[in-house]
Amino acid sequence: MRDPVALVFPVDLAPQSLDTDPSTVRPTPLEVTVNRASTLPSTRGTAGTTRRDQLVPAALAYAARGWHVFPLRVGDKRPAFPDHAADRCTGRDPRCRRAGRHVTWEERATTDPARIRAAWTSAPYGIGIATGPSGLLVIDLDQPKPDRGGAIERPPTEFDEPGITDGADVFAARCARAGHPAPLDTYTVSTGSGGTHLYFIAPTGPKAPELRCTAGHLGWLIDTRAHGGYVVAAPSTVAGRAYLADDPDAGAAPLPGWLADALTPAPLPAQVPAPINLRTGGAGGNERMRAYLESAMNGAVQAVHAAPGGQRNRAVYGAAVQLGQLVAGGALTAETVRAALLSAAITVGQSEAEAVRTIASGMRNGAGRPRYVPDSPASPARGRAA
Ligand SMILES: [Zn+2]
Repeated sequence: MRDPVALVFPVDLAPQSLDTDPSTVRPTPLEVTVNRASTLPSTRGTAGTTRRDQLVPAALAYAARGWHVFPLRVGDKRPAFPDHAADRCTGRDPRCRRAGRHVTWEERATTDPARIRAAWTSAPYGIGIATGPSGLLVIDLDQPKPDRGGAIERPPTEFDEPGITDGADVFAARCARAGHPAPLDTYTVSTGSGGTHLYFIAPTGPKAPELRCTAGHLGWLIDTRAHGGYVVAAPSTVAGRAYLADDPDAGAAPLPGWLADALTPAPLPAQVPAPINLRTGGAGGNERMRAYLESAMNGAVQAVHAAPGGQRNRAVYGAAVQLGQLVAGGALTAETVRAALLSAAITVGQSEAEAVRTIASGMRNGAGRPRYVPDSPASPARGRAA
């Protein structure tokens, strides 16, 4: 195990581009030596946060590699900014106000050193790396979690073999079964919870597939982060446990082709307009309303697709609240909303049972706050005018 005291953050000499073959780039190490007693949080247990004087050089070093960073809440995996979900955007946040719309963490992620220094001045924020804009695909090998009774999760039949207990074992087995060596010679981070992040350069070029996040697609306890996702980067601290790079000098290797193929989403069925069953029916004058509802439905479905691994259930819930409000306002039927959200939730890997519960709960919440579409025959404004 590497001595975690001397943190060496690499700064590539190459321009801020990921098109460079990392094996040909000699990183210039930037030594940041920290005091063992007072700064590096224990990797086990005690509450601690990583000091700001470690975080800023690390964030700058990532930016120099072309990796887009953004601040995470202190000691937490969640983005620090924006501090609100898209459906709760009031426009008071300065970035949202200037843009005239909600600005996501992915859009805020940056490689600009001045913005990075400014962002980390007020607090020892953790570092998030937005994998999509960074051109990265990160394979997240997790540890099994104990269930409510404290029993450790068992592997599914496919991986129920001696020696397979966690995501790293599953990944090794997956690679062996595919007849390929496990691609472990790449930038690697040990996570606070005993997991492993393997960083890869995502395929580029006009024909390259746009890889998105997956959950369990490569196997039990294996998630991937790409477009729409982010990773907690070293040396952030989450719940008192530090994320540490195994070899901070290592570059990210290109994602092996067979893994890129395995992670390439199946082509979507031809885009058909979402069938909107307008509860109020009618023709002609309802075209604007139909367009509004289609956009609300498509936006909700896209929010579910775009949510990173740990936030999918919340995204489904948020979408169900929003559309549930429109159902309560009489603009959409509950069946239309349920079917669209269920399909989206299952597509991103949620279990049907969980998705059904989440959607029902979100729609119940939304029903308490009906939202009326302008021009809707059901809207109270029109009711008064009639
Ligand atoms: Zn906002």
